[in-house]
Order: sequence, then structure tokens, then C-alpha cells
Amino acid sequence: MNILVINCGSSSLKYQLINMENECALAKGLVERIGIEGSILTQKVEGRDKYVIQQTMKDHKDAIKLVLDALVDKENGVINSMDEISAVGHRVVHAGEKYSESVVINDEVMVALEDCVKLAPLHNPPNIIGINACKALMPNTPMVAVFDTAFHQTMPKKAYLYPLPYELYEKHSVRKYGFHGTSHKYVSQVAAEMMGKNIEELKIVTCHLGNGASIAAVEGGKSIETSMGFTPLEGIAMGTRSGSIDPAITTYLMNELHLSADEVNDVLNKKSGVLGISGVSSDFRDVEDAAAKGDERSQLALDVFYYKVKKFIGSYTAVMDGVDCIVFTAGLGENSPEMREEVCKGLGYLGVELDVEKNKVRGKATEVSKEGSKVKVFVIPTNEELMIARDTVALIKK
Ligand code: ADP
Repeated sequence: MNILVINCGSSSLKYQLINMENECALAKGLVERIGIEGSILTQKVEGRDKYVIQQTMKDHKDAIKLVLDALVDKENGVINSMDEISAVGHRVVHAGEKYSESVVINDEVMVALEDCVKLAPLHNPPNIIGINACKALMPNTPMVAVFDTAFHQTMPKKAYLYPLPYELYEKHSVRKYGFHGTSHKYVSQVAAEMMGKNIEELKIVTCHLGNGASIAAVEGGKSIETSMGFTPLEGIAMGTRSGSIDPAITTYLMNELHLSADEVNDVLNKKSGVLGISGVSSDFRDVEDAAAKGDERSQLALDVFYYKVKKFIGSYTAVMDGVDCIVFTAGLGENSPEMREEVCKGLGYLGVELDVEKNKVRGKATEVSKEGSKVKVFVIPTNEELMIARDTVALIKK
């Protein structure tokens, strides 16, 4: 059985066709510049050259049509016909409080997704457009929505409620939702497998550190706390996002610098974080390189980032009354030994003993703590697409 996984952004689309017999991707692809001049599709198949199509794509329907063409292409494709796609799993960012699990897409689900547009104005609209485009092109293929917010719906109320007037929660849905749920769920499950333990017995801190970054406390397999909030801006400092700051800074910027609400939003989402402090880049590779060459602000940006991650690990250990393992995942988490070393420094009191040699690993599931370390530390490459495909299979089999 093959599952097509689609992750639609505003002008881009990532996809994978996964063979569920061996859980391997038959093809992985990226479509960029949808609706913009210079649209391009790049498809990768293990052991073959990249397949590139440069062709105008005026919208997501054009893009998905091209994805399907690329998958069935006689020379460069991986399947003979669209009948070999059993179902489509869509990544959807926000489901509000409506769904705590993935769902088969029907009209009621589409209404719920529309309702959540106000909560995720940048993310849900392209997700909805992608689903509609797929429905138009493959009307008889079942579709499943897998939500970034779903895994965190198990947070207790004391964790998700902000100390604001209660009617803001009741009438305007203002609460912590959390994101990257599919990734936190996946890596916590793999960590339990690597420990040879039942996830129900474990207290895990998962650190998803990429351009966007979030940390979660996973107790007994359930998310009980996470660092992102009402939006993906809360929490640790990120590539370009500030993470948590004194909320009064926003009104100060509006009153003193005469910035509009949109301009403040822009500063906090696009000009802050590691980019804001370093002035060099939002890409950690560039910032690590600059710091290594002696750039002080780059070093400061990294120090601030490491410090925030460490504070969350400490506080989530308190929240769970202990921790059995810490997991690092996503672009930076999987690939930066330096970051992992700096974050784990000073966590010895918790029982974290990093093995500096084992920690030199990049992008491979590995235990990087010393043998006998009370708290295990793992590097686990995330695989949100596989998680989406697994949920899709489980739901269509029902
Ligand atoms: P997202 O999915 O949020 O766009 P990713 O999980 O792909 O992000 O992570 C991208 C980030 O990971 C970039 O900031 C990049 O600098 C960082 N990264 C990727 N490879 C490395 C590496 N080898 N060393 C340090 N950072 C890396």
C-alpha cells in the first residue's frame, strides 16, 4: 500500500510517496514558487538523478497535478498509475480544540479547518487549498488530516490556560495549543523503543530544534506541556522568532517606535531570534561558523539559544517530577554536536552525562549519553511524513 503525504505551504509543497510495506519513501519531492514566476518541482528517488520540472504553476491544483504526473512519469516516476496511491495524508497545522487525533477528511472536517483559519492565518489556508486541490484531482481517494496541534491536546488545563481574563479563552479560544506535535510524538515513540521500555512508564523531554523550535514534556506517551503557545512564536528563541519575551515589549514598540501591530509582528517573527541577536543569519550553520571565527554577537546569539533550551529542559523535568531521557531532533537538534554539548553542560545534577565522542554524530538515531548515565540522551531524526502516513493507514483501514 502506498500513501501520498502532502505538506502545503503558501507557495511551496513538500510530498512523499511512502510504501507502507517497508515504510520507505519511494519518492520525495518539493514544489517551490507556486503562483510565482519560476515555479519548479524537484523529485528525488533513491539511486537516481534528481527529476526537475520547470513549468508555470498558477496555483496549488497545478502543483499537485504536476506531482501526480511526476509520480507516474514513465521514465522518472515510481508508480504506473494513480490507482497505486491508496490514500493521501495531509499535514494540517491547526485544529484548535476540535481534534486530538488525526481524522478522515469529510465536509465537517473542512468546516472545522476553516474555523481555525483565524488561529493560524498563515498556515491553515494553504493546507485547505492543498486538500481541495487533491480532492478535485483524486475524488475517489480517501484523505486524512494530521494536525500539528493534536498531540498536545492532552495538556492539562493548568498548562494551557494563560493567566488572562477567562472570557478570552471561552469566547476567543485564546490558550496554548502547541505545534510540531507529529514530530514530538514520533521521536518520543522511537526513544521508548531505543530504551526498550513501554512509553507509558517514561518521562521524556523532546527538543525539536529547527528553524522553528519547540520543546515538549511527554509523560506516559502524552504531551503534558510544550513551549510553543497560542501561536508558534512562544517558547525558546528560534532562527528568526523571538520566542517568549515580556509581552509589554510589544506595546512599548508600538507606543515608543510608532510601529503598527503588523510591524511588531514582523519584528518578532522575522527579525528576532538568532538572526536578531547575531545580525548574521537565521541559519545556525552560518552563526556557528561566524562564532567560531570570533564574531561576538554570533556567540551571544548561540549562548542565548542554548540557555533557553536548558531552562526549558530544567522546568519540564520539574513539571514531570523527573526525566528518563532527552531527545534532540530536527535540523539543528540532529546536526549540531556543539549545541547538544552546550545544552547538556550543567545538567549533571539531573543525571545527564553526555558522551562527547558518541555525540559527534549527525542525522542518525543514536544514544549520545554515557553508558550508565541516569538520564539517557538521544539524537533521533524526526520523520513527520512517516507518522502522517501511519495515521492515514490506520484510519482508512477502520
Ligand atoms: P524547519 O523544518 O523548521 O524549516 P529544519 O528542521 O529543516 O527546519 O532545520 C533547519 C535548521 O537546522 C537551520 O537553521 C539550519 O541551520 C539547522 N541545521 C541544519 N544542518 C545543520 C548543521 N549541520 N549544523 C548546524 N545546524 C544545522
